[in-house]
Amino acid sequence: MSKQYDYDLFVIGAGSGGVRASRIAAGHGARVAICEESRVGGTCVIRGCVPKKLLVFASQFAESFADAPGYGWSEVGGRFDWASLIAAKDREIDRLNQIYLRLLSNAGVELHEGRGRLVDAHIVEVNGQHYTADKILIAVGGRPWVPDIPGKELGITSDEAFHLDRLPERVLIAGAGYIAVEFAGIFNGLGSDTTLAYRRDLILRGFDDDVRRVVQDGLRNRGVAIAYHRAPARLEQVDGGIRVTFSDDSVAEYDAVMFATGRVPYVWDLGLEQAGVHLGPGNRIEVDDYSRTSVENIFAVGDVTDRIALTPVALMEGHAFADTEFGGQDRPVSHENTPAAVFSQPPVGTVGLSESEAREAGYAVKIFRSEFTPMKYTLAGRQEKALMKLVVDADTDRVLGCHAVGPDTPEMLQGFAVAVRAGLTKAQFDQTIGIHPTAAEELVTMRQPVSS
Ligand code: NDP
Repeated sequence: MSKQYDYDLFVIGAGSGGVRASRIAAGHGARVAICEESRVGGTCVIRGCVPKKLLVFASQFAESFADAPGYGWSEVGGRFDWASLIAAKDREIDRLNQIYLRLLSNAGVELHEGRGRLVDAHIVEVNGQHYTADKILIAVGGRPWVPDIPGKELGITSDEAFHLDRLPERVLIAGAGYIAVEFAGIFNGLGSDTTLAYRRDLILRGFDDDVRRVVQDGLRNRGVAIAYHRAPARLEQVDGGIRVTFSDDSVAEYDAVMFATGRVPYVWDLGLEQAGVHLGPGNRIEVDDYSRTSVENIFAVGDVTDRIALTPVALMEGHAFADTEFGGQDRPVSHENTPAAVFSQPPVGTVGLSESEAREAGYAVKIFRSEFTPMKYTLAGRQEKALMKLVVDADTDRVLGCHAVGPDTPEMLQGFAVAVRAGLTKAQFDQTIGIHPTAAEELVTMRQPVSS
């Protein structure tokens, strides 16, 4: 590889995508440097998926405590201490951060601590130092976005939610995407009086409509207040907390207001214009199937690009980029049938097309759907349904989409994602023997379509 530059590859951003790409490239023999202005690990490890899931685990004890008497337990529960949870979570994040640092050094990747900026297509500046590189990878991720309303600075985002001094007694969550519904479950489970306000009429836009309805019912069933056609329009500090005036002129007070109103690519002050990197709608970096930007030697992966903002997607993009550019392989990335989970309560696992996406794409569809009370809830007396749903192409019998809501569905869907990605048919699902007694067996035992 060229000795004309300090490095063969310089990666800006040590999150999931950047760390994976740099390690794989170094493994292929490239001289690699990476820079990070915050903590190595990125959004997922430091302030996203990982701490979020730890908080979800903590909040799920509420459900277990509530259900335990049905199974003969008494005097369950106890006092919850937010500070202990946050301290334990921080220790775990420190441990993971150290592992990531070790992974980089063991791979021989040089870490420069500081914000990286492109000076031109081959020069990156970090802390006033210039480094030259044959190829540059931008993996800077995204940042929370908050609507520009009066008093918005009184609100928090998921970044701050992980470090609150105390658990708010009354919390308002604005938005109804992944982060909003996950944090609604967390705060509610831990004991906060939780309200979710959404500007439209059903949470989780973009997911299958049956999934959205069942999650909504599950959240409400657990005590989350969901207010539709309502978004915060003004925040004011008052004696008792934060007064929120909503878009419909209603007013309420909370101890914390969390904006979960989306994330934007972290592209500002990065020198992208200087280097000639083209941004598409929403300031996302436009890339081709090999993660190449409009500049020949500059690549981008993860949330900063115009693709899907999920950690495993960034990992796959970073890995494929490194294999292609430094490992002599030809690895374009395909985002088709990317599975996803929402760690709401109840949780969601999903892969492939929703019913409406399949219909809009022109498929003649057969829908198989089962709504049932999970076995675990029977003795507990919990009135709640789980959902299993298959969207099937009526012409070819191929399963186009698989959607599940209920206990353990994120774990369940990984295997079904293999089946959907492999293009298996409903008949092949039916030939598979179920595992009994599980909820997952519904996905191979639904015989009658509910609609076509
Ligand atoms: P989403 O884009 O999923 O949701 C944003 C929400 O905010 C939507 O409900 C949107 O409403 C609403 N909203 C947007 N603008 C406004 C506004 N001006 N006023 C009021 N409401 C508004 O973003 P998230 O922040 O929840 O998550 C960001 C990304 O992070 C996700 O897309 C996902 O890729 C990733 N993520 C994945 C997780 C997982 O895999 N489990 C967990 C957390 C995040 P509307 O529907 O009307 O647009």
